Amino acid sequence: MGHIHFKQHSRNYPGGTPMCPHEPECPSFGDLDREAARVVASHPEQGWSLLCNGVVVFDDTGELLPNGGVIAPHRPTDIPVAA
Ligand SMILES: [Zn+2]
Repeated sequence: MGHIHFKQHSRNYPGGTPMCPHEPECPSFGDLDREAARVVASHPEQGWSLLCNGVVVFDDTGELLPNGGVIAPHRPTDIPVAA
């Protein structure tokens, strides 16, 4: 039985993107707490912010993932109210 070296190369960059220099690294866009990543570019006049894990967060809490995924707005006030 020789030595087995486990190396995690699933991530090329901390946080999954070259934009995340933070230590410890921020949650990747695939994590449930992806919104905990740092804001690297904020455009309140346009209603969106870019996080260091590549996620774009919109004012309405919707999100755009770097892999093309879309997260629908999920704030409580968006729950439809019966007329
Ligand atoms: Zn980061």
